[in-house]
Amino acid sequence: MLKGWLDRWRGRGKTPSRLKPVIIPRDRHSISRKDISTAAVKTLYRLHDAGHDAFLIGGGVRDLLLGLTPKDYDIATSATPEQVKQIFGGQCQIIGRRFRLAHVRWGREVIEVATFRANHAEGDSSTAHTNADGLIVRDNVWGDIEEDAARRDFTINAIYYNIADFSLWDFAKGSADLEKRVLRLIGDPETRYREDPVRMLRAIRFAAKLDFTIANDTGDIIPELAYLLEDMSSHRLYDECQKLFGAGHAAPLLPLLQDYGLFEPLFPEAVLHPCEELWMLTAESTDDRLAMGKSINPAFFFAALLWGPAQSRQQTLCDEGTPSVPAWQQAAQQTLSIQQTRTAIPRHIGQVIRDIWEMQPRLESPRPRQVEAMAQNERFRAAYDFLVLREEAGEDTGGMGAWWTRWQSADPGLQAEMQRALESREREAGPAGSRKPRRRRKPRPKASA
Ligand code: ATP
Ligand code: MG
Repeated sequence: MLKGWLDRWRGRGKTPSRLKPVIIPRDRHSISRKDISTAAVKTLYRLHDAGHDAFLIGGGVRDLLLGLTPKDYDIATSATPEQVKQIFGGQCQIIGRRFRLAHVRWGREVIEVATFRANHAEGDSSTAHTNADGLIVRDNVWGDIEEDAARRDFTINAIYYNIADFSLWDFAKGSADLEKRVLRLIGDPETRYREDPVRMLRAIRFAAKLDFTIANDTGDIIPELAYLLEDMSSHRLYDECQKLFGAGHAAPLLPLLQDYGLFEPLFPEAVLHPCEELWMLTAESTDDRLAMGKSINPAFFFAALLWGPAQSRQQTLCDEGTPSVPAWQQAAQQTLSIQQTRTAIPRHIGQVIRDIWEMQPRLESPRPRQVEAMAQNERFRAAYDFLVLREEAGEDTGGMGAWWTRWQSADPGLQAEMQRALESREREAGPAGSRKPRRRRKPRPKASA
């Protein structure tokens, strides 16, 4: 214990509270104002015209330098949230307690404006606070840009674009890391992860999104500290999960999540009942949908990640004599309430997950006369897609995924014929309910790398 404390104390020294920039003039970098969203440029200029420093920061700069389209734009400024509010009036809303920020709205687009912050250790307890474990619980000490840069997570996220002269201010050799395609934490990794364990998830999210390597000192310590996520706010972890799985890079992310030991603290029961093929297929199909500009529902990947524990619980209840339908309802309820302790799944999302699960046995053994009504169900599409993925993952679904695929593209004559065939199959199988529930096939062992 003493050693851990000593290491942390030593580590603190390695995390500077301010950084000096290398300034890259306009003619030595590739970012041009026309690549930045008009809303972000207008926000930067309004702050600058009011006499404040205003910089584009984070993903906006990083992604533009990599030739990617930024997901959103973040601005760092010397103006306090109240001053930002004065400048933008009704367009601006101050949000957050842990991190007080201004949101400036331009039609549908929201630009996040954050005041330069200083290292928490130097603030007073009403504005900044870390608890006994080194976790930052409040972080609202205003500072200057050099202090602000030292608080940023990764070197590639600490490059600032100055609207005053269009130069880049690179505080932590982020441009060099962009060239080398390396993700590197600023400061001492252990201290930085203890301050905010979500940075471990951010590390693998950026590595997956950008296809970057994680620097050794940034990555090696993650498995050891992954348990810190267990005490994080379940609401923040749910939001982070949406970013992890819903940003179009779930397929490269999934193995990283497992390799770095971050899967278990997020989904403890899923680790005990893994369905790796289903997870991977779900990740790929989620990424494909996003790449095609289609929407995704977070319920779908939660349904896949928790399918193993839900199914095993249902099986146990059935073995104990609970009829199949109530067994599914109870299993779904219990699985979700255990998961809620890690990631606070909103009620409406939980309902969709339950619907997807509870429709699986009905899609696998449909009553012939209910086929049309089932296909009209508002959850049919998601439940059917889920069934097909389970089938592709090698589960025994009686071939019903393929059956539904064929049925949906059949003309009414063929549909009626397919339903009649189901009827005779049902007669041969005996009275409803006498069929044995199918057992899940054991997942295939993981292919070795
Ligand atoms: P993207 O928006 O594409 O997911 P981003 O880098 O812009 O990536 P944001 O969450 O929008 O990420 O945060 C903006 C910037 O704020 C980051 O680039 C980083 O500099 C800083 N930041 C965000 N979260 C943290 C954190 N937990 N710890 C330290 N710095 C952070
Ligand atoms: Mg961003």
